[in-house]
Amino acid sequence: MSSTVILDGTMIKKSQQKKRTSPCNYKERFFVLDTQELKYSEHRAGRKPILKGCIKLCNIKCVDMVFTDLPIPCDYKYPFQVFHGNHFLYIFAPDNDCRLRWVHALKEETKNNNLVEKYHPQFWMNGKWRCCDQSEKLARGCLPYDPVGYGSKKPLPEIPDSEIEGLSDAVHRIVIALQNYTPFGDTELALQKDKEYTLTDSSHPDWWNVRDEKGNTGFVPRTHLTEISGNNIERFEWYNKNISRGEAENVLFKEGKEGAFVVRNSRQTGVYTVSVFSKAPGSNEEKQPCVKHYQIRQTETAESLFYLAEKYLFRTIPELIHYHQHNAAGLITRLRHPVTQTGGCSQIAGQSQDEREVDPDELTFGQELGSGQFGMVLWGQWREKKVALKMIREDSMSDEDLKEEAKIMMKLYHSKLVQLYGVCTQSSPMCLVLEFMENGCLSDYLRTKKGCLSHDTMLGMCLDVTEGMAYLETSNFIHRDLAARNCLVSKSNVVKLSDFGMTRYVLDDQYTSSMCSKFPVKWSAPEVIKYCKFSSKSDVWSFGVLMWEVYTEGRLPYEHQSNAQVVESLNAGMRLLKPRLAPEAVYLIMEWCWKERPADRPSFALLLHELSSLSER
Ligand code: ADP
Repeated sequence: MSSTVILDGTMIKKSQQKKRTSPCNYKERFFVLDTQELKYSEHRAGRKPILKGCIKLCNIKCVDMVFTDLPIPCDYKYPFQVFHGNHFLYIFAPDNDCRLRWVHALKEETKNNNLVEKYHPQFWMNGKWRCCDQSEKLARGCLPYDPVGYGSKKPLPEIPDSEIEGLSDAVHRIVIALQNYTPFGDTELALQKDKEYTLTDSSHPDWWNVRDEKGNTGFVPRTHLTEISGNNIERFEWYNKNISRGEAENVLFKEGKEGAFVVRNSRQTGVYTVSVFSKAPGSNEEKQPCVKHYQIRQTETAESLFYLAEKYLFRTIPELIHYHQHNAAGLITRLRHPVTQTGGCSQIAGQSQDEREVDPDELTFGQELGSGQFGMVLWGQWREKKVALKMIREDSMSDEDLKEEAKIMMKLYHSKLVQLYGVCTQSSPMCLVLEFMENGCLSDYLRTKKGCLSHDTMLGMCLDVTEGMAYLETSNFIHRDLAARNCLVSKSNVVKLSDFGMTRYVLDDQYTSSMCSKFPVKWSAPEVIKYCKFSSKSDVWSFGVLMWEVYTEGRLPYEHQSNAQVVESLNAGMRLLKPRLAPEAVYLIMEWCWKERPADRPSFALLLHELSSLSER
């Protein structure tokens, strides 16, 4: 039978792991879809392509996007799934438009097949479906499958982003929550910062209807969403379309905050400028406050990437701004405070300052749970929720520092991070209102459960921490004090990261701290001990030590050695020994975390992938 090519292109394929023991990997493949088959082959420079797989379209039972709240461990970040026979093939497209084109074309070619009624919108991982927790891989799906979906009958042509904007919402668009949103009433939906949603209706100017990965739909404020791809910058608080250079200077001087910035249209059509204020720029001899203007430029390559400082290139302007909000990277200062045309800095965090402040009358103080460096931690109640109240001893932290720390914690939202609900600065002493973690800190928990922890539980604990850390890594945060004592255990034994007192934004990939002496040597990477150089890779070293703590059921690392002796033995290339309970494969991962050169250590995204595949075995 003759066949016509419908689509082709390079994407990444995750191994299908047809056998339980087969390793998990991600490989770049050249995919070809024709009217009969979906084929993929390995392309090597100067050699004939090798066909690696071929799926007959008649065997396909479902094709759809995959939603995920986890970082994706390969370069292409837009997953979709092809369920064929009894196998799930996960394919990662380089951008959302490309993903939509493939999903649409595959749906179109398979719509008359014997299809599933329901499908799984999330990944199969760690022996269960992340969407519905079912532990049988072939278990019935949990969301009705739409065999047509994604709009028109013909495969989508290459559409520029600007036109996608104008298409009907039948072409589903993926949006990301810019911040958390708590719904009021049944018609609204809760948003979780950084999570993906499908946009189902954008006809109202202020309220958009979206669907989450569980299939729940509801209205949310349009201002809380942004699209994954495209350069639509209109909705960003920092975009001040028609402000002139002079007006921008006036607004920013009036604001007077270090790093206050706007993005505006440049006089040249189609070009944008970033204007940023600095109080005391280092490069300016008189150290006079000034406003600098940087034009957003584009490379002349086929992909046409955006940049402010040449070294850092981005596919979209929002991505570029996001990066420079965390890294000065060539600018006079990092873009700290977006300013709107009407004047005034807008809130970047998930909640406004007022929402963060907890009314002391709403709090009930209970018994002591423990004590830490800032003071006591009490059991408490807030708005019918059991909470932990971290009391801040008066001499230990200023009001401003506490608010700053709260701001950092509130920006971070993930199921493997202990959540901060708010701060109460009007009580005396002031306190942080935190998610209550019934089983206390991980190091104590390990010791009390000594002899009762299964291998799965220990691996699960390491995976929980990795998930939380992978989230911090993608959010450009360095933890700087990762250890079992700084993790807490919930009622259902989920381990979460807590204690962000030391956590800070990364100003560039690595940075040097002047507070080095405060760091716990036995958990610290060699470059931290020697040069105070912190990075996500120094967190990876600490994570290796945390894994060791888990597999020794809470023993202290280098128990009988002083800090000086530890430094000496690390310099001599020695490392912590394999815990008796750690399987060889787990110890290999610890050793990987303890590589001398940070670049030789894995990222948390990669660790997540490696540990997940161990737990799938
Ligand atoms: P610090 O950071 O000030 O040193 P910690 O955060 O380690 O203090 O808290 C001290 C102790 O209080 C912990 O070991 C734990 O037993 C208890 N604790 C802290 N936060 C919580 C929480 N969210 N839920 C339950 N117990 C907590």
